[in-house]
Amino acid sequence: MTRILVTNDDGIFSEGIKLLAEELGKIADVTVVAPDREQSASGHSLTLHRPLRLRKIREHWYSVDGTPTDCVNLAVLGLLKEEKPDLVVSGINFGLNLGDDVTYSGTVSAAFEGSLFNIPSVAFSLEVAEGFSFARAAEFARSFMDTVLAEPLPSDLILNVNLPAGDIQGVHFTRLGHRVYDQSLVEKVDPRGRKYYWIAGEPVWTPEEGTDHAAVSTGFASVTPLHLDLTDYRGLDAYGGLHQRLSDKLEGKAAP
Ligand code: MN
Repeated sequence: MTRILVTNDDGIFSEGIKLLAEELGKIADVTVVAPDREQSASGHSLTLHRPLRLRKIREHWYSVDGTPTDCVNLAVLGLLKEEKPDLVVSGINFGLNLGDDVTYSGTVSAAFEGSLFNIPSVAFSLEVAEGFSFARAAEFARSFMDTVLAEPLPSDLILNVNLPAGDIQGVHFTRLGHRVYDQSLVEKVDPRGRKYYWIAGEPVWTPEEGTDHAAVSTGFASVTPLHLDLTDYRGLDAYGGLHQRLSDKLEGKAAP
């Protein structure tokens, strides 16, 4: 039977991971290794400067006092090292992980980490709006994974799946959208007279067809294939002039 490692960034006691693990348990052997508390927006953070503890919650359920990336490492290199998982599934996140926001996301970063171990990985996130239901999202995730697993998977597969709050109209394969963040910094003064800050703001998205945001906002499940290679391949050509100037300068051909 397929072995699935389930993790998330909302913490092991979140409803999203509970229902996801239950549903995936109908089609696979599931082990849950997840943070012991919320780690949303922890990105791809790895804990290197303190020890980590793995705590058994119940059969096949373990919590870690670390990030989603820590969880994948402890699972793959430790707990499950004799029986490496065939798949990492992260989520279901409370809230969407779209476009420019994916590198903040602990949910998506757990999938990146699975991919670094050559394990196909899928992240699920759910829109939080009127009518949203983790139960419906988890059922969708099970049937989605059932379909995905019907054929052998490339080891570098990373799928970022975002689900709309309401009924799911269908599935769109999408590219990452762009946010025109109305990002703001709230500055206040604490009771001791010192300033403190909150990073705030509501994301506003550029309406572009074919993006993950466009799919979810029209009621479709969005599936974005991702990879971790952030190289700007166009830049390798486009910055040729800069390369030349830097080379000339280092070789003493240009005025300092
Ligand atoms: Mn989260």
